[in-house]
Amino acid sequence: MNPLLKTTLTFALTLAVFTSNQLAAKTHVIHAGNVLAIPGKPLLSKQTIVVIDGKITELKSGFIPAIKIAKDAQLVDLSNSYVMPGLMDMHVHLQGELGPKNDSKKLRMSDSDKLVESAYFAKKTLLAGFTTVRDLGGTPEQIFALRDGIAKGYLQGPRIFAAGSNVAVTGGHGDVDGMSPDLLEMHTAKTVCDGPYDCRRATRHAIKFGADVIKITSTGGVLSDTDTGTGQQMADDELKEVINAAHALGRKVASHAHAASGINAALRAGVDSIEHGSYADEESIKLFKKTGAYLVPTLMAGDTVVTLAKTTNFMSPAISAKAIRVGGDMIKNFKRAHKSGVKIAYGTDSGVSRHGNNAKEAVLMFNAGMKPQDIIKSATVHAADLIGQSKSLGTIEAGKIADIIATDNNPLDDIKALLEVDFVMKSGEIVKQQ
Ligand SMILES: [Zn+2]
Repeated sequence: MNPLLKTTLTFALTLAVFTSNQLAAKTHVIHAGNVLAIPGKPLLSKQTIVVIDGKITELKSGFIPAIKIAKDAQLVDLSNSYVMPGLMDMHVHLQGELGPKNDSKKLRMSDSDKLVESAYFAKKTLLAGFTTVRDLGGTPEQIFALRDGIAKGYLQGPRIFAAGSNVAVTGGHGDVDGMSPDLLEMHTAKTVCDGPYDCRRATRHAIKFGADVIKITSTGGVLSDTDTGTGQQMADDELKEVINAAHALGRKVASHAHAASGINAALRAGVDSIEHGSYADEESIKLFKKTGAYLVPTLMAGDTVVTLAKTTNFMSPAISAKAIRVGGDMIKNFKRAHKSGVKIAYGTDSGVSRHGNNAKEAVLMFNAGMKPQDIIKSATVHAADLIGQSKSLGTIEAGKIADIIATDNNPLDDIKALLEVDFVMKSGEIVKQQ
């Protein structure tokens, strides 16, 4: 062996032993009165959850004394609580919140200001019990830095799976709008594309700079300040190229879509989730079932834009008109899709609504006829499946990452219990305990 390599290896080994001795295993023993260990399956009572170094190692019946697990184990008494896996929101935008000052903020805030603000929103989201989110669209460099900073433990926030900038067509939803021409030029993302080959390039570009997931906009959107409707905007060949390129590089694709034409085209092209899905028709439902794609309903977005359109005047006439029309129809369509057996993954579009209110989506889903058990499943088991993390997230089982939350009341009796999460553990670290 090369002597330099040998010295380096010896040093590395010494360091590894030294580090593991210094950091004794950190053990939490949770006494859980009631546990929804696997959402969709019955509630278990009086369980002990053992968490060592951020992972769940055991789930056992009865309250086992902490000392019996490890002499320095920390007992967490949740014996009067309802304990479940951390909630997961599959559609947020941590950079900003929709409001009357959006235009001036765009001009006044630096990218660094935006990053700091998004760190604040991330923390609010985590404290609300959402331990994992998918951020579907924003300024790439800043959202990736936030994601990585949280992963390293520099900042408190949910685990983030981020898209960065949308892969969108010129002039379509996901491209910039509502600015002077020079600002439009300045802010156009490198992932705006036209034609199949260019969209293939845009997808690879997004992945090169850090995208965990590709976000596309197959139809027009409510909040684009252009009179371009909510119909299909990305052409079939563009959709196919983006999805093939993303899958070839191991990334899933989420498509914003309102009109049935765009929903169906994206599903036919092999998309992994449809966001909003406002006008899903019979054909869409057949395609959802055939492909196994998820619907991420974002009822909160519909609810928020309708309220804003009716009670404020900061949105342009084009946006207001779309908000009232689409927002009102989203619930009807969600009811039908859910009833027909389309797989639902939980998502709020927070950023349109306020960050930290993510659990309100559960109340809207319940009001639209979904059972509490299914709602919680959509925010755990289904969400984990959608992001390809079923092996590590979504349930309380041995071997999974210790993302655990608790409420005082039983969310299976009253879904509003999720609005008041009293305990949050993420990766084995307690971040909230009341
Ligand atoms: Zn969105």
